[in-house]
Amino acid sequence: MYDINKVREDFPILGREVYGKPLVYLDNGATTQKPRMVVDAMVDEYYSVNANVHRGVHFLSQQATELHEGSRETVRRFINARSTNEVIFTRGTTESINLLAFSFGEEFMSEGDEVIVSTMEHHSNIVPWQLLAARKGIAIKVIPMNDQGELLLDEYEKLFSERTKLVSVTHVSNVLGTVNPVKQMIATAHEHGVPVLVDGAQGVPHAAVDVQDLDADFYAFSGHKVYGPTGVGVLYGKEEWLDRLPPYQGGGEMIQTVTFEKTTFNELPFKFEAGTPDYIATTALARALDYVTALGMDNIAAHEHDLTQYAMMRLKEIPNMRLIGEAEHKSSVVSFLVGDIHHFDMGTLLDRLGIAVRTGHHCAQPLMQRLGIEGTVRASFGLYNTRDEVDILVAGVERVSRMF
Ligand code: PMP
Repeated sequence: MYDINKVREDFPILGREVYGKPLVYLDNGATTQKPRMVVDAMVDEYYSVNANVHRGVHFLSQQATELHEGSRETVRRFINARSTNEVIFTRGTTESINLLAFSFGEEFMSEGDEVIVSTMEHHSNIVPWQLLAARKGIAIKVIPMNDQGELLLDEYEKLFSERTKLVSVTHVSNVLGTVNPVKQMIATAHEHGVPVLVDGAQGVPHAAVDVQDLDADFYAFSGHKVYGPTGVGVLYGKEEWLDRLPPYQGGGEMIQTVTFEKTTFNELPFKFEAGTPDYIATTALARALDYVTALGMDNIAAHEHDLTQYAMMRLKEIPNMRLIGEAEHKSSVVSFLVGDIHHFDMGTLLDRLGIAVRTGHHCAQPLMQRLGIEGTVRASFGLYNTRDEVDILVAGVERVSRMF
């Protein structure tokens, strides 16, 4: 059973006040709050285990290594990868995409080759491809969308050519909440012999992800958006692809032998993990994944679906409300504008009422250009939010709207 009051007790920060008002935290798309057990895991490891991983013969180093590699297994199970060789720890989604853009670009792309992305990408799935374009002269093709915020799959099909080398698309839009049909899109790409990277930053926190079922070639996500710590994330990749990719960074850990003439690289996944990993964060990430697994990803998805539907219904009662992103398959993100009230003004005044929302372009400026707006107000829900908090949001938006 999903006992929301009990769940909320796991998150100490939810009990605090801002400006003398109870905090209503609706900025989960940017980052999520941490349950006590995640923070405790970090404190415990620093106080009682801390030692650098992999290279030590001593007791603590071995214990830290066991925790770190155990976390890799937890991640593997969570996304149903075949092997821990397919789980690379990074700093987050951004680094995962940059890693792939660099390594895949180095090995498999040359001038005139093409990567397909979508209109609704976060900058972190646009700019790495532009950097590659500047280095190698590749071209970026963009999947268009309709006004509801759904990708046009017929147009997507038409973008493939002999020069298409990769599709890189977001699982869930951080602005519109659209859940893209990535399984179908991957199947289409595979018919053209093209691999797919999925940006799962907004996918993993909200519904069960099975990389084998999706048949994703690569899948990226961030720990901090799934109730884990900052500074750690994952790049999943099929072993047959990762084996063929060159390293992204050089340093300790990623080598087998080094002479001044020649270096041989370590096996997977270490080939892509130069330097000391954030092993404290990987432990804590595993505890976060344990936490959401114990609650049940399906229960979380159902709870958040209810909140999102309720929020959309209630917000629509407000005069001059414009909801942005009304895809049929939608995750727990609600973007909106009211009349000509600037999103920044709305966000600032809501903040004074204790309500934390995000405003602006949400690192998706090309999407803003497509929508013909500068920004939105965005409420994004997490597993601990309640209908009461939605009511507080709606009352807040009504109050601010009346002021203008
Ligand atoms: N992609 C999407 C869809 C996102 O929402 C975000 C975070 N807002 C990112 C990528 C980047 O994630 P991070 O900053 O954790 O690397």
